[in-house]
Amino acid sequence: MAASVTLTAGALALADVAGAPGVGDPYFPASGNGGYNALHYDVVLKYTPKTQTVAATVTMTARAGHPLRTFNLDFRGPRVTSVTVDGIRAAHTRDAGELVITPAVPLARGEEFTTVVSYTGTPTSIQHGTLGTYGWIKTREGAIVLAEPDGASTWLPVNDHPSDKATYDFTITVPKHLKALANGEPLAPSLEGNWATFRWRQPVAMASYLASVAIGKWEMTHGKVGDITVITAVDPKFKKSLTQVHRRTMRALRWGRTTFGPYPFRTSGAIVDDPRLDYALETQDRPIYGGFVPSEDFVVHELAHQWFGNSVTVRRWKDIWLNEGFATYAEWMYREHRSKKDSAAKTFRSYYRQPAKAPIFQTPPGAPGREQMFGFPVYVRGAMTLHVLRQRVGDAKFRTILKTWAAERQGGHGTTEQFVALSERVSGKKLDKLFQVWLYKKGKPKRGSW
Ligand SMILES: [Zn+2]
Repeated sequence: MAASVTLTAGALALADVAGAPGVGDPYFPASGNGGYNALHYDVVLKYTPKTQTVAATVTMTARAGHPLRTFNLDFRGPRVTSVTVDGIRAAHTRDAGELVITPAVPLARGEEFTTVVSYTGTPTSIQHGTLGTYGWIKTREGAIVLAEPDGASTWLPVNDHPSDKATYDFTITVPKHLKALANGEPLAPSLEGNWATFRWRQPVAMASYLASVAIGKWEMTHGKVGDITVITAVDPKFKKSLTQVHRRTMRALRWGRTTFGPYPFRTSGAIVDDPRLDYALETQDRPIYGGFVPSEDFVVHELAHQWFGNSVTVRRWKDIWLNEGFATYAEWMYREHRSKKDSAAKTFRSYYRQPAKAPIFQTPPGAPGREQMFGFPVYVRGAMTLHVLRQRVGDAKFRTILKTWAAERQGGHGTTEQFVALSERVSGKKLDKLFQVWLYKKGKPKRGSW
């Protein structure tokens, strides 16, 4: 079917009809794809732990931004067995991390279309020097997904860039002695022979790096904070800590709602799995902790991301401090709230006392570069930036800025420039120098220079 489409003379130039293989993010040029917007993914996946294989069918509903003769999905997963577009078999080829699809009938600008990709085999994780192990990760009993920044394509054919958020449905089938968790709200599970099927619905637009499944033998507990359902699950190895993790999550959630405004999703919780990854990820609704019982700080950090990162999402990876600086500053604020003697100002001073050659001052958090995007400066100097903002505008205005950022951009995106503009609007102060010095200038900011 590959040559079934012929363009008539006078048709659009090729550049106008091929979807670009990336969205133009300089940190990840191949991430995402041009030419369309994903609206919804329906993920149907069966996992056999014994052979570590998946058999999956993913349906993407999307809208074409311009006429498309071909378009791409990001996919580094196993063998593709079939692709259809609007119910008709489509030609497809694979080129590194790209799945290039040629529909039998070219797509018109503005057209909503449905792409169904079926695949089978063993997904693998990405091993990267500074970014670590991520993507689809095999565990002792099952598997887990932690996909930031570009690991969703290890298990999903997807428009893998945070600038294109979509809603999701998950239908995950596993051997009946296991359970499958995913983002969002649980629907009724079903049993058939030796297999159990678990369904989850994510009705709020989600960045692909936050999409996750967690397959294992979970010990679980449920609770409520207001109308938010809190579901906490731990690997049996961490059974003794289930209640503690659950309580920490509930407490941090209550504090987050008063500090940042209404929680942006309907469910929350925590997942603690067995592989010792030495990091956690703020997977939408329920963060995943990789092989350790999270401290209070850790829980607060990952839950703060539900507002900052998950609900208000970066449009380009360069702005990652909007996620990590904010979540780190949430830890400082929470400690201040819990303890009379542990103020954010004290934490700021302890970092600011570090010598000019200290690592936190070497990388500007507003432009860290791909290799340093999860480096210490993005977290700590990012949080310090928020602290100097708070000092400049005062406590009340600072809290208004955080709440307004979360409210005005709920479910959408934000950039650094937009955050600076909001801070100036709320405070009535000129703040460009403060942000320039703290976010973009190399070296330790000198007192009086902002
Ligand atoms: Zn974080």
